[in-house]
Amino acid sequence: MDEFDVVVLGTGAAGMTAAIRAAAEGASVGLFEKSDQVGGTAAWSGGMVWIPNNPHQAGQGISDSPAEVLTYLHSLSLGTIDDDAVQTFVEVGPEMVRWMEANTPVQFTLLAGFPDYHPENPGGKPNGGRSMECPLFPFADLGEWADRVTKGPQLSGALTIQETPLGRGAPNGIPAAELEKRKVRDERGTGQALAGRLLKGCLDRGVVPRTGMRARSLLVEDGRVVGVRFEGADGPAEVRARRAVVIATGGFEWDADLVRAFLRGPLSRPASPPYNTGDGLRMVMRVGAALGNMREAWWAPTTTVPTPDGGSAAWLMNGERTRPHSIMVNGDGKRFANEGVNYNAFGAAFHALDVTSFRYVNETAWLVFDQQYWTDYGLAYWRGSEPAPEWITQAGSLAELAGKIGVPAQALEATVARWNKNVADGHDPDFGRGTSAVDKWWGDPRYGDGPAATLGPLDSPPLYAVQVYCGTLGTKGGARTNTHAQVLDVDGEPIPGLFAAGNASAVTAMGMTYGGAGGTLGPAMVWGYLAGQFAAQEPALARAQAGE
Ligand SMILES: Cc1cc2nc3c(=O)[nH]c(=O)nc-3n(C[C@H](O)[C@H](O)[C@H](O)COP(=O)(O)OP(=O)(O)OC[C@H]3O[C@@H](n4cnc5c(N)ncnc54)[C@H](O)[C@@H]3O)c2cc1C
Repeated sequence: MDEFDVVVLGTGAAGMTAAIRAAAEGASVGLFEKSDQVGGTAAWSGGMVWIPNNPHQAGQGISDSPAEVLTYLHSLSLGTIDDDAVQTFVEVGPEMVRWMEANTPVQFTLLAGFPDYHPENPGGKPNGGRSMECPLFPFADLGEWADRVTKGPQLSGALTIQETPLGRGAPNGIPAAELEKRKVRDERGTGQALAGRLLKGCLDRGVVPRTGMRARSLLVEDGRVVGVRFEGADGPAEVRARRAVVIATGGFEWDADLVRAFLRGPLSRPASPPYNTGDGLRMVMRVGAALGNMREAWWAPTTTVPTPDGGSAAWLMNGERTRPHSIMVNGDGKRFANEGVNYNAFGAAFHALDVTSFRYVNETAWLVFDQQYWTDYGLAYWRGSEPAPEWITQAGSLAELAGKIGVPAQALEATVARWNKNVADGHDPDFGRGTSAVDKWWGDPRYGDGPAATLGPLDSPPLYAVQVYCGTLGTKGGARTNTHAQVLDVDGEPIPGLFAAGNASAVTAMGMTYGGAGGTLGPAMVWGYLAGQFAAQEPALARAQAGE
């Protein structure tokens, strides 16, 4: 039977951070991954990492403090944020950044100007400073591992966020010669850069991931977790952990039973890889872990797009729903929320229940836009210089469009008429779109920093519609952990030898909220860092905690 000091399950940001940190403490580390490729959702992501009070702020003249961050997050808590967890996040976040930059290939740069997601709340940063990303990373440095990092449908190119319109990149993009140069060493940005750097950090320390290994259950002896039972391509296998096991297997968004059992409302279309089926959650439940934050996910509106290989994929509707010349309507043909709010907050709009008709009134929702929008932005892989593809519903008039998508024509016409009038008046009295710095940031920078960045009339036919679903980047409930990332039992005591991080754990530092761009990867890396550090100290840590 294979044996390691520390066994880490999952190769997302949380798992790879934990693996690197444990190895740096001198532990031998076994890193196991269910899928045939590594990187998890992190590799599909934008790679933005939200760490308030981070070490890069000072160089840019940005002031921040633990007190401001705590004020900000508590203002968003609605009773769901745990004091100890948020305090730990605020204290350890900057330390994690410093440590990773000094000891691994993971480096960060500030996403200059990127506002927090509720920037006008007390302690919020309308001018940014808390969101970071990794510089481009040459996948040539990964050798044979370069092709084994999973790529998502949306964000896998040779650009950083700062080079795109979202990061306020140059309007004409990067010169072709520079893009050609990047091909030579296969330089990649966004989540690929983060996952690539983390993977290099693992390989540099001799931690070689083993893929195709689905962890199924924990081995427990005398109340202590001592290993993991796997299902691999060659059948079942057991691996022992001399010190500890770290669960970093992501969320449960792809398991219909767990979704129905725990989430606070409908979830139709996750945007993460399909391997996140709550295996870690089932493992920790079997050994008596306390659970937390179970009703929550990192909510995100998505649509379904056909992919070049003939399949389909979830596509995040972020900038897509905040640019001018577009609105969202429900099945009644009415607007129902500020389309410009951050994706996580928007999830609550999908969960609005009409108590008389007893239905989720916004569960069926459409993005409606006009020719100006199509010409300027296109959608997903399709550019506006070409005719819109057939999967996008299109019509010569609003009435015709309403008929095609099954909403009342008069209601849709009235909604658009009111929207166009409000746009002409320069504001949205119905939902306040364009008042927050974040609405404007996610709009079109060519229209400046005012409401026009997101407000634009729908007055140039043809009209278009795509259905928008309540999706998620991943769930954020799971095993409750303490400030050492130890998994707690139902009485609040650490389960010896068991740690958890990322979306497999209860992300109670965030509760219902999403602090800013990178709000999920930030806590995932902080808890991964803690899990690796303290897992490597077992069983001495448990003995010390027991007063022995
Ligand atoms: C398109 C997109 C863009 C995003 N952009 C951002 C962003 O810019 N910033 C941000 O903060 N967040 C972003 N997110 C969300 C973020 O990527 C995730 O919340 C984060 O990566 C979760 O990290 P994790 O390590 O907890 O889990 P994951 O990255 O999901 O990793 C879990 C890993 O565990 C593996 N696994 C599952 N079950 C088992 C098992 N039984 N045994 C072994 N392995 C197992 C999975 O295959 C996976 O590799 C984005 C998400 C998407 C989909």
